[in-house]
Parts: sequence; C-alpha cells; structure tokens
Amino acid sequence: MSGRFVVVGAGTMGLGIAYVAAGAGYAVELVEVDPGRAADASVRLAALWERAVQRGKLGAEEAAGHRERVVLRPALGEVAPGPDVIVEAVPERLDLKRAVLREAAARRPALLGSNTSSIPITELATGLDRPEAFLGLHFFNPVWAMALLEIVVGPATAPETTDAAVALAGRLGKDPVVVRDMPGFATSRLGVTLGLEAIRMVADGVASPADIDKAMVLGYRHPVGPLELTDLVGLDVRLDIARTLQAAYGDRFAPPPLLAEMVAAGKLGKKSGQGFYTWEGGVKK
Ligand code: NAD
Repeated sequence: MSGRFVVVGAGTMGLGIAYVAAGAGYAVELVEVDPGRAADASVRLAALWERAVQRGKLGAEEAAGHRERVVLRPALGEVAPGPDVIVEAVPERLDLKRAVLREAAARRPALLGSNTSSIPITELATGLDRPEAFLGLHFFNPVWAMALLEIVVGPATAPETTDAAVALAGRLGKDPVVVRDMPGFATSRLGVTLGLEAIRMVADGVASPADIDKAMVLGYRHPVGPLELTDLVGLDVRLDIARTLQAAYGDRFAPPPLLAEMVAAGKLGKKSGQGFYTWEGGVKK
C-alpha cells in the first residue's frame, strides 16, 4: 500500500494520526511549526514504536519501516502538491484552523479533513477552495487505541468525498460513523456535557475527582471517568470546545469557572503533569 498522508500539528492528536497512518502504509509528512514540539514529537513517536515492539504488536523491522515513513516538516509550504490526504490537527481556534486549511487546500490534496472536536465544518469551509473535497475527520484519543472515526459531512461535501473518507477509515483500521454538520457533532456534544458537569460537581464539593470517576466507572460501566478523560484530552482543549458549544447552544455549555482557573494556572492535565490528577511520565499517580 502506498499514498501520501499529511498531518498538520504534531500535538496529542496529530502524533497519533501520523502513527496510525504510517502503520497503514502511507508516506506521512507531519507538519509542526513549533521546533520544540517537533523535536518532542520525534521522541514520542519513537517511544510509541518501541513500546509496540516490546508488547509484541510489531516486529522490530516492521516498526523501523513505519518509523522511516514519517517525516517532520516545519511548514505546509514544504509539502509537495497532490497528497492523497491532509488532516489538520492544530488547536481548536476557528481563525487558526481556517488559515491552516486554506494553506492545506493550496497543496491540492484529494481529501482534506479537519480533526476539529466541535467547530462546524461549514464554518471551517468558508472561503475554502474546493469545499467539496473537505469534511470532518474526527479521531479519538489515543488514536491508535480508539476504534471510532467520526466523519462530519458539510452541505458542500461531495458524496465521493464521504465515500473516500469511509474507505480511508477502513484502511486505518477505524470504524466510522457519518454525522451531519452540527457544533459538537455526535460525540463532543455528549462527552463534554458529562465532563463539564463533573467539574461543577468538584467545585460543589460533591465528592473527590477520584470518587466521581469511580462512580461512573463502576456504576455506569464507563471505561474511564469524566475527570480522568478531561485530563487525557487536555483541559485547554475541553475549555475551547465548551466555548464553541456555548456560542452555538447557549449557557448550558458555559465552561465552569474552575475549568478556566485551572487552565489559566497551567493545569492542563496529563500533558502538563497536573490536572484533576497528578501525572508523572505520562502515568497517573
Ligand atoms: P495540541 O495543542 O496537543 O496540538 C496542536 C499542535 O498544533 C501543537 O503542537 C501546535 O504547535 C501545532 N500548531 C499550531 N499551529 C500550527 C500550524 N499553523 N501549523 C502546524 N502546526 C501548528 O492539540 P490536540 O489536543 O492535538 O488537538 C488538536 C485538534 O484535535 C483540536 O481541534 C482538538 O479539538 C482536536 N481533538 C483533540 C482531542 C484530544 O483528546 N486532545 C480529541 C479529538 C480531537
């Protein structure tokens, strides 16, 4: 299998998407503007392949082959025209995503996707060249472990583009759902509701974060509690999503003051080492 797959943004999600795309045989270009983040991404990718080998999921040679297929780029301008896929996974800000998508569209990909968690595809498509080739490709964290790909279809998305996205999901080993373009789609709208309410419960002193999570895990069979999930997603990412949903649906999605305070204090969850839990070396204490 061959093909060229470009990922923009080497953060939590971009890294995971690049890892999975390399595993599916694509030549991957991972675009990251922040040199520190780019260096970090190389180290984290290497660690992912090493762990896959240690766990017996990949042979050493196979892992080396996957690793060789990922190249880091400092800017989209350095990507040759005509890749099969470009997916942007930059922070959840409308203006930033629009600018990145316009630049990505200029590289003439066959399929252009956004990994947005909550911003309507229609808003992202404004001013975009060939909006018919554009849709939402919403992956879940961690990308290598989560089976779902939420495909978000805007009014301008061509049916062939949706078909191509469903085929892409199959190649990446993902199980897709196709949803209509609404803020928060099918997943974030429900998932964030639970996360925000759990944060309000912490602020109200209902129970400790650990006990709120335990209640949902043992009482509702959730694989992970809403506060630990917020730590995994990133408190800053959840704050951005809540603000987008508040603008669309009103104050039922207003971010709790505790969330904004924690983000302002740099408590972003697993990635910063502190959120509702303390994390050391990526492991919850
Ligand atoms: P992140 O902050 O971890 O990573 C974003 C990366 O993009 C950073 O490394 C940043 O330096 C880089 N970046 C910024 N501007 C850029 C540009 N112009 N060109 C190239 N790189 C640029 O964010 P994340 O958690 O990976 O989230 C990315 C997107 O994925 C957001 O839209 C988010 O809503 C969505 N998402 C996140 C999760 C999650 O669990 N974190 C899950 C699903 C979807």
